[in-house]
Amino acid sequence: MSQLLSELHNTIQKNGPMPISEYMSLVLGHPDFGYYMSRDPFGSKGDFVTAPEISQVFGELIGLWVGSIWQQADSPDKVRLVELGPGRGTLISDILRTSRYISGFIDAISVHLVETSPYLRRAQEKALSQYRNSLEISWHPDFDSIPEGRLLIIANEFFDALPIEQMVYSKDCWLRRCIGLSSSQDLVLTECQDSEDIASYLPNSIRDRASCGQVFEICPTAIKLASKISKRLSQAGIGALIIDYGHNETASGDTLQALYQQKPVGILQHPGDSDLSAHVDFEALARATRSPKIRVSGPLFQRNFLQDIGIIQRTISLTKGADSRMRKQITEGSQRLLDPNGMGSLFRVMAITEMERPIPPGFSH
Ligand code: SAH
Repeated sequence: MSQLLSELHNTIQKNGPMPISEYMSLVLGHPDFGYYMSRDPFGSKGDFVTAPEISQVFGELIGLWVGSIWQQADSPDKVRLVELGPGRGTLISDILRTSRYISGFIDAISVHLVETSPYLRRAQEKALSQYRNSLEISWHPDFDSIPEGRLLIIANEFFDALPIEQMVYSKDCWLRRCIGLSSSQDLVLTECQDSEDIASYLPNSIRDRASCGQVFEICPTAIKLASKISKRLSQAGIGALIIDYGHNETASGDTLQALYQQKPVGILQHPGDSDLSAHVDFEALARATRSPKIRVSGPLFQRNFLQDIGIIQRTISLTKGADSRMRKQITEGSQRLLDPNGMGSLFRVMAITEMERPIPPGFSH
């Protein structure tokens, strides 16, 4: 039995069944044995591949987007460029490389990376080593510890890793899905009374028309974070871009999934060694940002967003000087990001900006 599994057993034996959110937090973020804490989960040898790891074009376009938002806000000095969950640091380094071409931008920013994994933080330090002398770069354990001031926030595949709760409608009431132990001491799903009133997050449309066995997911951490982002942007300006897989409208359904060595497995298998994630409810995020000073744009399909901000033109220009192997790699990378049957429509893009500024690039259609 792995050390994490034995800790899970001890905690459940001591405290009773554990809510899904606590399980997700532990298996992903346990300081010693959590999934993200001691490994590089990305790439062909890891469990999943993210957009910036597929193609440099992704980060370059986001770099130009970030620069345009800054220009739309009258090019202020002193902006904190924040990335939530920067993984290997590929996206932020592609953003910085490109945004150097936007006059004055690089001199206006300091870089703030929100990361809990010491292992990935080291990878990020390496990816950004060339900027360490010229740019102020700092790491933070959470969004709250980012000092006040103007923020430009990027989050790619971050929100899907935040711990969700699952509510199950059973015998005329909503119960909280938890993880307990079977008589043979295996981890099993079970349902418990909702002692923390998680059901208060349920929209009326779902609460009032529930049927037996219906599952509803809520990510209180994501909702609180979206609300904090909105508050910070309304106080000091300027914007955020959230890219993730998920749904535009709040709906029922069980989307919690585990990946182990690139294959789907049960969520209770290989705790700490498999990735756990859930679809992002973009409508819930948008609801949490609501403020007269805030504009929410999207969510759009990643495909439409990237096309609108110039992926085709950038791909053509990159392939011009490249040899045939590189040409193939660059073209296939962009096709994968745009694939209508894959990432192009699975992933959604939402921007949170100041109402007084124009509609951000990529969202005007
Ligand atoms: N954005 C990157 C990586 C996405 S994977 C990319 O596109 O390639 C999720 C990232 O979020 C990892 O860096 C992980 O360590 C980090 N992470 C997950 N949960 C976190 C949390 N609660 N707080 C801070 N970082 C977290």
